[in-house]
Amino acid sequence: MKIIMLGAPGAGKGTQAKMIADKYDVPHISTGDIFRANIKNGTELGVEAKKYMDQGMLVPDELTVKILLDRVSQPDCTKGYVLDGFPRTIPQAEVLEKALNEINDHIDYAIDVNVPDENIVRRMSGRRACLSCGATFHIVHVPPKTEGICDRCGKELILRDDDKPETVEKRLAVYHEQTQPLIEFYSAKGILRTVDGTVDMMDVFEEITKILGEMA
Ligand code: AMP
Repeated sequence: MKIIMLGAPGAGKGTQAKMIADKYDVPHISTGDIFRANIKNGTELGVEAKKYMDQGMLVPDELTVKILLDRVSQPDCTKGYVLDGFPRTIPQAEVLEKALNEINDHIDYAIDVNVPDENIVRRMSGRRACLSCGATFHIVHVPPKTEGICDRCGKELILRDDDKPETVEKRLAVYHEQTQPLIEFYSAKGILRTVDGTVDMMDVFEEITKILGEMA
């Protein structure tokens, strides 16, 4: 099972990707998480990626494609994976397609979690993240047990720089310009499926499992 999650930043595709990965026992691969882990560990890649992320811009394809192709060639990916936040540009999608073609493989579905822009800014400014263990919360939808404290590791929760309203506006503009064309790209290949991302997250997940059920 090879799935791509599409959708604007903050549409909830990360949450859905994690739930799919758990249910179908495949790795959840988030390029954003990989970049954040590199930032935390102070690697060269992290230092470079941070310059773009903090401004709501995309990390250049050369850096992003390499880390993604390395990751999907790991042994745990033979049974499939859920990609969350990759591809984000047409060139990224083309590189992935070429790499899969070379091993006689393909993406099963690209699932677009559709949420109008108006909802996005409101949602994202409520997000809180733990920089220590990577857990994410939402002050309204997924509140931590103790305000401002991570349930998982007890460290402080913060509003990530890239979730601040001014950065969110920028990320949405980047999304429409560079990532939204992927909807047409995968639609033309007949593998696009769209779900309504404005409803309860369990209902979104049910829609997705129906789609994935068609695969068997
Ligand atoms: P995310 O956690 O997926 O929202 O990603 C956070 C940030 O990481 C994005 O705003 C980009 O700056 C960067 N990023 C993540 N994935 C990609 C990608 N596939 N291409 C370029 N930049 C990315």
